[in-house]
Amino acid sequence: MNYQYWDPQIEKMPRAELEALQLQKLKTEIRWALRAPFYKERLSKAGISCHDDIKSLDDLKRFPFTTKNDLRDGFPYGFLSIPKEDVVRLHASSGTTGIPTTIYFSRDDIKRWAGYMARCIYGTGCDKNDVFQNMITYGLFTGGLGLHQGGEEVGMLVIPAGAGNTARQFKMMQDYGTTVLHATPSFLLHLETKMKEAGVQRESLSLKRAFAGAEPYSEDTRRRIESLLKIDVYNSYGLSEMNGPGVAFECQCKEGLHIWEDGYIAEIVNPDTLEPVKEGETGELILTILCREATPILRYRTRDLTSFYNEPCKCGRTHRRMRRITGRSDDMLIINGVNVFPSQIEEVIMSMKEVGNNYLIVVEKDGALDRLTVKTEVSTEIFMDDSRPLNALKEKIKETLQASISINPKVELHESGSLPISEGKAVRVKDTRPKDV
Ligand code: AMP
Ligand code: ZN
Repeated sequence: MNYQYWDPQIEKMPRAELEALQLQKLKTEIRWALRAPFYKERLSKAGISCHDDIKSLDDLKRFPFTTKNDLRDGFPYGFLSIPKEDVVRLHASSGTTGIPTTIYFSRDDIKRWAGYMARCIYGTGCDKNDVFQNMITYGLFTGGLGLHQGGEEVGMLVIPAGAGNTARQFKMMQDYGTTVLHATPSFLLHLETKMKEAGVQRESLSLKRAFAGAEPYSEDTRRRIESLLKIDVYNSYGLSEMNGPGVAFECQCKEGLHIWEDGYIAEIVNPDTLEPVKEGETGELILTILCREATPILRYRTRDLTSFYNEPCKCGRTHRRMRRITGRSDDMLIINGVNVFPSQIEEVIMSMKEVGNNYLIVVEKDGALDRLTVKTEVSTEIFMDDSRPLNALKEKIKETLQASISINPKVELHESGSLPISEGKAVRVKDTRPKDV
């Protein structure tokens, strides 16, 4: 196999050809899927017993959706579609139930995944001259090895730094002349706070770009990271059920993420009715993988909320773009009957320059009512012992939030660097209300 990381023929393929390629790959994927115990049963119930039953891409709509619960029910080997001796790796993500969702890879699957990752990385302008410090968790989580393999494929010098320990991260950046970073957006913000504390001069670093993903963040957060660290930030999207990162990535236009449609079929549906949304409307992203033989997954309900761009991208790539994920259909908070997405709160606070780099949303019961508290750090320019600007900032946050989400929150201001930071995905919401009420 020869997977090139820059292939204009594929990336700029006319839509009709791209769809023909998708159909051909979908048939192959279904042939693989029919070997997995779960799909053998599921698909035969839906009247599909052979990949040749698929005549057009529209036929995919006859397929039932696959959910995270299905994957858990199929644990450990219900979705495996090749002999176990041909599996070379697994990745897993553990959810709240404790039963992990496990994805298996053949050797070819790994190569294909690395190819998509390399395409993403090269598309942001990186090449073999770059030094890439991968500051995200390695291990069962796909973010570490995913970007790592892609970086090597592009020929960059990859430093498998892993997450955490900012002092060590700065040292590596200085020692090796790091030009590219990968981390969660919250860790990149944290890094900037620590950089100031440690007295590390930006001029002593050679940073040019960062890939930020694994958790939702707003355009304001991207701009904040870009201006604080003086780098270009590119949004990286993926999920372990679809290999991990490498499903969709921003190109240098930074206007939406190209979904690699020769590897994935994307649909957007209304999460309540499961019917397709109208062009450009927001809904839940549904993904079908077209590039993995060991664990095929068809019409996966990602729970991630997004919308498609209708227009083609200025870069000339024809693969459809999606807007940044605004949240998950299951992370909506209902506070005294009002629906609020954490992303709405982030958008308000991250646009204020007086606000620092970390925040936490707390929802709790206060008698019969719900109470929302927004805790934010203040920027290093604001002194905690000067109450006048602090009170003014508190009022400003309260008023802007109330105008945006129709809830009057309590606002707490904290010193820069004092709110907790997690090594993996940021925990932005603490909802202590009893679940069964
Ligand atoms: P995991 O399977 O543990 O890697 O988690 C995948 C989930 O992380 C996705 O379904 C999204 O909810 C979230 N995620 C990953 N990348 C992004 C991103 N760039 N923006 C927003 N959410 C993301
Ligand atoms: Zn583009």
